[in-house]
Amino acid sequence: MTENKKHIAILGATGSIGTQALEVVDSNPERFVVEVLTAQNNADLLIEQAAKYTPNTVVIGNEALYDKVFSALDPLDIKVYSGENALSSVVQMEAIDIVLTALVGYAGLTPTIKAIEAGKHIALANKETLVVAGELIMKLAHEKGVNIYPVDSEHSAIFQCLVGEFQNPIEKIILTASGGPFRGKDKSYLEKVTKAQALKHPNWDMGAKITIDSATLMNKGLEVIEAKWLFGVAVNQIDVVVHPQSIIHSMVQFEDGSIKAQLGLPDMRLPIQFALGFPERLKNNYPRFSFVDYPNLTFEKPDTDTFRNLALAFEAINIGGNAPCVLNAANEVAVAEFLKDKISFLDIPRIVEECLNKIDVIDKPVLEDYINTDKETRIIALELVN
Ligand code: NDP
Ligand code: MG
Repeated sequence: MTENKKHIAILGATGSIGTQALEVVDSNPERFVVEVLTAQNNADLLIEQAAKYTPNTVVIGNEALYDKVFSALDPLDIKVYSGENALSSVVQMEAIDIVLTALVGYAGLTPTIKAIEAGKHIALANKETLVVAGELIMKLAHEKGVNIYPVDSEHSAIFQCLVGEFQNPIEKIILTASGGPFRGKDKSYLEKVTKAQALKHPNWDMGAKITIDSATLMNKGLEVIEAKWLFGVAVNQIDVVVHPQSIIHSMVQFEDGSIKAQLGLPDMRLPIQFALGFPERLKNNYPRFSFVDYPNLTFEKPDTDTFRNLALAFEAINIGGNAPCVLNAANEVAVAEFLKDKISFLDIPRIVEECLNKIDVIDKPVLEDYINTDKETRIIALELVN
């Protein structure tokens, strides 16, 4: 009998997506073998996870923590590496079938490229990679015969709607958005919101960066760009609709006008499991959705005057080239500074917009252009903070 197990690497195992991916492994232990786990700073949780799942290798990003992780895991015969470049080499390990990119931000770009180059399938949570360099990533994946399975709930929904429809052109993608904690508020309210308020998402419990992105609607902007590259559609084929209950995770409209939607309770374990288990739907006992508990599923237009970041993301992808890379880097810096209480909530779109205005557009960027654009944008964004 051939082995029916997938061998996985989880980059960012200690985060919100990473820990939920390990819950998926727990509920399907006969289907998955954990080969690699990585973290940046959370050495204690990484050690605990490694002791439980006994991967071949772990990576702790922060080199100052190497000794601690090594002394805990060497006796268990688990290899330990550290530093930024380690991620790029461990993803190429022979034994790995699929790499779950559950690390946050631009740091996902290089390891994702290295994994694709080695022919590893990707379960992609790290949307920033496709925002920065979507064209390059999709082209490389195509050349290498690598599949990119979306983990983001909206993109998983679209993917699920497309199963069995691959010959049928998409007329439109309808991305749903919760609207975040400040839905319906105006700019004078947003001027004064605090970090604590912004970190309270109504429907999802996620890492800090994406939670702030959800509050500013940048997350939906990043998802528009992610959808364009994943599904090969034009930007004007992507609509965003606010759906505060987060039950319909997104929709596809076909050329006959029919719309398919994917529904479920907001629970990231389902899209993670669908990406890792594809093409199978693995049985689980997660809570089920009941229509009678949700008599009102509502929809409204996003307010892009108040939540500028969504409009800026559309602008950036319409400009194309390195503009989405600028958008992403400026946003990463601004969100990090907001989380340090250095800037206000409305400074986030201000910084993103100024960076988009200041940085020269490169029409046909290559990898090095993206790397340079990211560096240059971060410097300018930090100047705008001070
Ligand atoms: P978290 O902040 O919860 O976790 C991030 C993970 O990445 C942690 O394991 C962290 O390690 C590690 N990490 C942080 N910085 C670096 C770095 N510079 N290099 C390498 N590893 C790093 O994030 P989330 O799980 O919320 O999000 C992960 C990705 O998934 C993001 O791209 C996000 O947009 C996307 N996503 C998340 C969703 C969610 O529900 N959370 C939904 C849809 C998409 P440590 O713990 O040691 O700091
Ligand atoms: Mg999403």
